[in-house]
Order: sequence, then structure tokens, then C-alpha cells
Amino acid sequence: MLVAQVATDVAAGKAFDYEVPPALAGAVVPGAVVRVPFGRRVLEGLVLAVSDRTDFPGALRPVLGAGGGPPPLTPALLELARWMAAYYLAPIELCLRTMLPPAVRDGADGDGFARVRVVRAARRDGGAGGRRETAGTEGTAGTTGAEGRPEQGTFDFSGKRKAAERKARAPRAEPTARQREILERLGDGEEILAGFCRTWRIAPETIRRMAEDGLVVVEDRVRRRDPLAGRRILPSAPLPLTDEQTAALALVREAIDAPADGPAPRPVLLHGVTASGKTEVFLQAIAAVLERGRGAIVLVPEIALTPQTIRRFVARFGGVVAVLHSRLGAGERHDEWHRIRSGEARVVVGPRSALFAPVERLGLIVVDEEHEPSYKQDETPRYHARDVAVVRARIERCAVVLGSATPSLESWRNAALGKYALATMAHRAADMRMPSVSIVDMREETARAGGKLPAFSETLVRAIRQRLDDGEQTMLFLNRRGYAPTVSCPACGHAETCDECSVGMSYHIDDGVLRCHVCGAWRPVPRVCPCCGNPDYRFTGVGTQRIEAIARRLFPGASIDRMDLDVTTRKASHEEILSKFRAGKTDILVGTQMIAKGLDFPNVTLAGILNADTGLNLPDFRAAERTFQLIAQMAGRAGRGAKPGDVIVQTLSPDHPAIVRAAREDFAGFAEGELRERQELRYPPFSHFDCVTFRGTDRAAAEGYAVRFAAAIGEGDGEAYVLGEPAPAAIERAKGVWRFQITLRGARPAVLNERLRAALAAVPPPASVGVAIDVDAYGAG
Ligand code: ADP
Ligand code: ZN
Repeated sequence: MLVAQVATDVAAGKAFDYEVPPALAGAVVPGAVVRVPFGRRVLEGLVLAVSDRTDFPGALRPVLGAGGGPPPLTPALLELARWMAAYYLAPIELCLRTMLPPAVRDGADGDGFARVRVVRAARRDGGAGGRRETAGTEGTAGTTGAEGRPEQGTFDFSGKRKAAERKARAPRAEPTARQREILERLGDGEEILAGFCRTWRIAPETIRRMAEDGLVVVEDRVRRRDPLAGRRILPSAPLPLTDEQTAALALVREAIDAPADGPAPRPVLLHGVTASGKTEVFLQAIAAVLERGRGAIVLVPEIALTPQTIRRFVARFGGVVAVLHSRLGAGERHDEWHRIRSGEARVVVGPRSALFAPVERLGLIVVDEEHEPSYKQDETPRYHARDVAVVRARIERCAVVLGSATPSLESWRNAALGKYALATMAHRAADMRMPSVSIVDMREETARAGGKLPAFSETLVRAIRQRLDDGEQTMLFLNRRGYAPTVSCPACGHAETCDECSVGMSYHIDDGVLRCHVCGAWRPVPRVCPCCGNPDYRFTGVGTQRIEAIARRLFPGASIDRMDLDVTTRKASHEEILSKFRAGKTDILVGTQMIAKGLDFPNVTLAGILNADTGLNLPDFRAAERTFQLIAQMAGRAGRGAKPGDVIVQTLSPDHPAIVRAAREDFAGFAEGELRERQELRYPPFSHFDCVTFRGTDRAAAEGYAVRFAAAIGEGDGEAYVLGEPAPAAIERAKGVWRFQITLRGARPAVLNERLRAALAAVPPPASVGVAIDVDAYGAG
């Protein structure tokens, strides 16, 4: 008896055994979608494995049906899903769900392809005069002669296909004048039926009769929904490489060509300063992979997945590139996915979820900007795409290259330990010089301004003026949107906070309201203070809107634009703002992290970081690392053209190592000091760091369970793991839900997982408390 192990969406973390009826034996293979009975329902599930035995003591229920075609998941992806389920303590069905785009998963109505109905003139036979019917099937095959294969009977206006075929074989009259006119309009081409009828004012009924008479052929065609449709992209040729690029490519090629019977190749960490030409190395490595008949996946942080990025890959590889990202429609995603599954597309570019693209004969995975936090998924399964990429590469025995100007300390240490091969590119390609970074001590600026912290230092103002005079562009970065983050009453000190979240409301001048950045709730600014009746409110702190307003005052006549979540969700799109900036219509672009990542504008010669301390003050062991990355990234935005660039960093802690080292572009020096501290405190990369969050609308229940859970884990001897005290999350209450956390760190992930599983089993959570386990958490948050 054949037994299929099937995971369904409802069977929390478990797969069930089903009997495979002999008739379905060919279709029920690992990775296939099947229909199975579950209780009194019929569910869709994925086949994890097929064997000839079961541990289930009773009679197995049968698989009811199976999807045709190649199974949606390759064997390698199935293995990867199992690994993820075990490593991230996530139910297997959620891991499988994560791997399939919704449009592929829910093939409920049909196969998910879009079809379009087309019409064309039926072929002429070789004989004299009129046209002959070819709309029929077998009967007319012999008469089509050298013109080609017979048509399939695809005509199905309101189910009249059979009649049409019958009639088509009957002798027929000469076309009328109107019909001849229509045939002429069609010529040798094929037209989309609806559009053709509309344009020439033809009644659909007329076409239907012509099809019945065999004058025209009407059929449905799969129409690919192409995310790049309408874009003209000029092909690009490989650039001659610099010495550093050549050495880096050689290392990647060595991994690509690792013998199939040897050990899996080592991942390559490509540490290259911004604009050192990492992308060109990726492109040429992909070319090598394609030459060997294999495929590649390129992961890019969602925010950097701009048309500009996509264009570089399409320009080099054309139609074999598939793009997957969240802004695609479900249909486009479905079609791109199937182009990958069928092997038509062999280079996949996308954000973290593109890691699960069903590329067969995978030769290379690229993780660009590997240090980016957005590679971590913040819902179950809480996987890190960089880490899972390394595992997938091991399973598929393919090359993996991690690229960054500021590698994560995890990868940096793996390179130091020799687990990863390291390639270094310390110079910018194409004669671009590194920008100079200067630090402005805002304590001095405050003293000079009479004790009030100014938003713009004199140094920054002067530098911007210079750019305006020279017709060059400036980017200003501030990690906070809105106008002012704090709104309070100067008389009694009352501060406006969100009703549902434990955070203050920010003032947004665009629409004149208070907004919660956690839940999005908004309300008007009160006319008087609800506590003391004072009519004056004080708006403290600065957000991007205020920076924009101050910049307009300081630089009248300059054209100033802003890019943050408020703008891109309401007014103009990301792309509109950027193309205006690229065209040089904007002198100064103010923005949040959206402007810090991956953008490449040759005329930007100044990047200003208005408050480098925001990140440093967070209670997060990665605070210094994040700050270093931010400065390096902003430095990467400046001076990418012929002219050198400047970066100005405003800070109240000008001596902080992250800031000092970043200004000197000294990643290695920063990493050395930071690693020493992490080692002392046993933080990653010297341990694995897990964070468990307990949530509930009942504060006492959530907190009480956190305490019991921590007790169930047990203090331990401090050797195998370190358990953090249960504590409120950084945002203790969000959308009305209270959140408490514990952290757990230790050298061996298996030990941590065992403790977590044991605690869950010992004290199962009450119904009112949700538990979210984040393995290898980016931080406690
Ligand atoms: P990174 O990905 O490291 O930030 P890019 O690959 O975007 O760097 O390269 C930065 C710029 O340098 C791009 O405009 C690219 O076309 C150019 N470039 C890269 N490699 C070369 C090369 N070998 N010769 C000339 N120009 C290059
Ligand atoms: Zn809120």
C-alpha cells in the first residue's frame, strides 16, 4: 500500500497519513497538491512524503484527488520546509504556505492563468478563390496542406462549440460584403476579440456567425501578465572588471564549479564598499551559472527592489528573468511563478520570499545587502532569508554569495572562522571616490544657538547652500516621520498618547492631526488641554515634515521634496518622487530609511544625517551596529557620479565608536570592538538569541503566563543558556494588546529549542494569551 504524508492548513504542525489509491499513484508525489478528507471536510494539502508504511494503527482514509503537472514544490524545497519547521519551531504547514504565493496555492478556480479571447481569419486553402473552413478538427486536417497544423476546436461561445464544429464542416456560402470587410481588417493578424469588436463597431454576434461558417477562428489564449510589460529596457554588456571584482568573481565561480561529489561549497561573503561594483560581480556570476544550464535567485531588500534595480538584471539577461515582489498583482505573481516552475525563467529577482522560488538546477543564490533586517520575517515562520539561503544552498549543493558594505557581525564572524570565504572590495569602481564623512558635534551647536538644539547645524546649512549654488543635489535623512513626535501641554505637562498603544501621538502637519505610529489611529489636536484647559499645545522634537518646513524657510527658492510613509501611501508614489529627483527637478530630498537604501543618483554630492543618535539610544544590543550601517549607507548615496561626495553626521555623541569608525569607513575596526562587547555579554554572533512574546488583552494574564513560562524554562546553570527576566516589550501595549517578553540566549540552537518546547508542553498557554517564538530574533522588540 502506498501511503502519503499530507500537511494541511488546519492540522497544527502535524502531517497525516493517507492511502494513495493506485489510480493516483503517479500524481501523488512529494510536493504535489492533493485533496484529502479531514473530519467531515475536504481540504487541500501538500504531500510531504510517500512511503509504503504508516504508524497509524487504524484504517487510512484515501487521497481523493491530486493536481496535475509538476508538483509546486521541488524535493529540495520540501526538505527546506522541514528544516525551517524544526529550526524556527514553526508548524510545517505554515512553512509550506510561506513557500507558495497565494495565487499559486489557492488554485481553486481553474489553474489561475488569465486567458484572453482572440480572433483571426481562418486560413485560406491553396485553392482558388474563397476561404475554407478550418475551425473544425480532424475532418479538415487534410485540407490545410502546407499551411500548418489543424486548429483545435477551441470555439466555445456559450457552449455552442459542438454545433460550430458540425456546421463548420458543412458547405458554405461566399462571405458577404460585411464579412469580407471584417476579414480584411483582420488581415493575417490576430486581434483581441473584445477590442476588435469595439474598435470597428462589430456586433459579437456577427463574429460568432462567421466562426460558425468557418471564416474566422476564435480561441482562448493564456495571456501572460508581465510585470515589466511596456518597459523598454536596453540590453547591457558585461563590464571589464577591476582587479578586486575579478578576484571576487573567481571566488564565487569556484563555489559554482565545486565538484558535485565533494562537500557543499562554502558561502562567499562579498564585503564591498558602496559602489564598489558588487552588482556587476553578481551579474557575471549569474551569467556563468546560466552558461552551465543552471538557475539563480537574487534576493534584494524589498525597499531596494526599485525599477532601477530590476532593470539592471533584465538588461543583462532579458526574458529569463522573473521578478517577484509584493507590489505585483496576484495574477502577475502567479504567472511569474509558473514561468519559474516550468523552467522558462531561470533568474529570479525578489525580496526574501523569492528565496522559495521553485528554480530547479539551482546554481547560485545571491543575498544582496545581507545585513538588512527586512530579511527577517516578522510572522510565523520567523525565518531569516540569509540564513535559510545558506541552508537551501547546502541542500541544493549550490553557491551562495552574501553581499554588503556593512556585513552583519554574524556573517563577518563566520568569515573569520573560515566557515565563509571572504572577498573584499575596498575601492569604488569606475573612478568614483569615497565620500568624506564629517561629524558635527551638536552639543557645541546647541551652546552656540543659546541652549536650544537646532535641527540644522551651521556646517550643514553652509554645505547645502554650496550645493544649491553649484546645481548639485542633497539628501537629508531623519528616522522619524510626521512633524513633531511629542505633543504636550506646557502648563500641566499632559502628553497626548494613543488610547490603544503605550506610545505618544505624533503631530502631522499635512493633515493637521495627531497620529499613532503603532496602530495608525488619528484624532484632531484638542482645542484645549483635557487636563487643565490650557489652549496652547507644545510640539516637541522633529520629524521629516518639520525638517521639510525648516528647509523651506532656510533655503527659499530651492525645490524640496519629501519621501516617507505618509507621502508614499497618500500623495505620490515612491517612483514618482524618485524620478523627479533623478531628473534633477528636486534640489533637496528629505526622507526616512526609504532614501537611505540602494538608491543611485549621480548628482547627489551631499548626504546629511540629521540625528544619528536616534538609533544609538534604543535598548537594543544591535544599536551600535545599526548606527554604523546607517552612516555607511548614507555615505553610499553621496558622490556616486563624477564629483566626490560629502556626508555630514549630526550627533550628540561624536565620540561613540560606531560614529567615529563609520566616519573613517573602518568596518573592520568597528567590528573588532563591537565583537568584543558582544562576546562579553554573550550576544550574537557568540550565541543564538531567541525572544518569546506573550500577548493578551488581559494584562495580568499575559504577564502571569510570561512568569510561569520563564519558570518552566528554568534558570539553568548559566552555561548552556542565559534566560532574561520576563519584562514588558519596548512597546508594552499595541492596538489594545499587552506584550511581555523573555529572551533566551545560548550557543546551541538545539538546546534553546528543546527548552522552549519543554516549557510549552509543561505550561500550555491559556486561551487568552498568544505566544510568539522568535528564533534568532533580530532584537527584542
Ligand atoms: P554596488 O552594488 O557595490 O553598490 P554597483 O554594482 O552598483 O556597486 O556599481 C556602482 C557603479 O559602478 C555602477 O554605476 C556600475 O555600473 C559601475 N561599475 C561597476 N563595475 C564597474 C566596472 N568594472 N567598470 C566600470 N564601471 C563599473
Ligand atoms: Zn495606537
